[in-house]
Amino acid sequence: MRPREDGTEGGLGQGSARGAAALMLLLPATMFHLLLVARSGPARLLGPPPYLPGLEELWSPRSLLLWFAWLGLQAALYLLPAHKVAEGQELKDKSRLQYPINGFQALVLTALLLGLGVLAGLPLGALPEMLLPLAFAATLIAFIFSLLLYLKSQVAPASALAPGGNSGNPIYDFFVGRELNPRIHFLDFKYFCELRPGLIGWVLINLALLMQEAELRGSPSLAMWLVNGFQLLYVGDALWYEEAVLTTMDITHDGFGFMLVFGDLAWVPFTYSLQAQFLLHHPQALGLPMASAICLINAVGYYIFRGANSQKNTFRKNPSDPRVADLKTISTATGRQLLVSGWWGMVRHPNYLGDLIMALAWSLPCGASHLLPYFYLLYFTALLVHREARDERQCLQKYGLAWREYCQCVPYRIVPYIY
Ligand code: NDP
Repeated sequence: MRPREDGTEGGLGQGSARGAAALMLLLPATMFHLLLVARSGPARLLGPPPYLPGLEELWSPRSLLLWFAWLGLQAALYLLPAHKVAEGQELKDKSRLQYPINGFQALVLTALLLGLGVLAGLPLGALPEMLLPLAFAATLIAFIFSLLLYLKSQVAPASALAPGGNSGNPIYDFFVGRELNPRIHFLDFKYFCELRPGLIGWVLINLALLMQEAELRGSPSLAMWLVNGFQLLYVGDALWYEEAVLTTMDITHDGFGFMLVFGDLAWVPFTYSLQAQFLLHHPQALGLPMASAICLINAVGYYIFRGANSQKNTFRKNPSDPRVADLKTISTATGRQLLVSGWWGMVRHPNYLGDLIMALAWSLPCGASHLLPYFYLLYFTALLVHREARDERQCLQKYGLAWREYCQCVPYRIVPYIY
């Protein structure tokens, strides 16, 4: 795409609009396929779904109400006083937006409220039975919310538009998102959706699956504990280091359209909980030695993931911080520097490597009898390879020769000596 004078990218081919339209059908279809297959006996990832659910199985006003209650609760927790208010990256008009840092607090308060609810008789273990209508409600909300965002973007000033998503083709723009940071007062929709309802919803669904397994079999299996523990660590980490999301591509570069709205509200909670869904219907025996080895794999992945992300964030916040001051760097024409030693001297995306190692550890407790629980690993590899290529293009555009020099010093993208 060609950059326009206002800094957005125009000149879209018909193929991109068709691709966007296809993805808007394909992503929800894949999510429903996974939900149906996970509970079926053969649990075949690549086969047809066991049956096609009718509208009466998908549509339930109760599920829609539950979603609104959930979104309302998370929005209320977002608006509670935060111990810190962070500033985002500088925008085109030189201003910086403010964001509350209280995501971890929202997770803890949600856990407390749910704990009280369960003590008072809230049937959390019944949630797994409602996954299909809940996913349907999330999909409906994603379409309607994206439409409202698209309409809102029509009255946004040019300086508020994202670099992509402003091709003039309504289907493509609806999908990719026109406005960079749509918000009403302090409620920033993209920042809110990225880390709250979907991510906390994901671990809530996992917990409900664990509770239903305990009801069915007397106690949760070791495999279910591991999947719950690993994914809770991941979500807890994302919320603990919430401020780091402000420098990710999703926040600094991408518009807020159907791609992110559906991803945040539907795809994450309903497909990232696939391993726990699978385990509920296909229990796996897991011995202690194997469980210990899987924990070790997750720990290695987490160590790389956290080390790399923290190193870059510390460096971007303050390059003279003693924790990063000794690292080698390359200067760029923009005045920013690139790390060329430490984690970022090993490969060009060490954080992706750690994330992929963890993805493997999340699937291994599900055994080797089915491909289905490895869906996340396969999908995530494709996503990160594509994301890495997108980031490389942007960095080349931003840093030019300095980026080429960095690529020469650090030739591998994600996996040392392999890719
Ligand atoms: P990164 O956090 O990797 O950010 C990429 C940016 O980092 C570049 O654009 C550049 O921006 C900066 N950068 C790149 N190389 C260097 C260097 N050598 N020195 C200093 N800065 C550098 O990208 P993402 O937003 O894609 O990922 C953030 C995290 O989120 C990752 O851990 C990823 O695995 C995870 N993730 C998880 C997903 C999930 O669904 N579970 C989905 C997507 C991501 P600049 O120079 O402008 O600072």
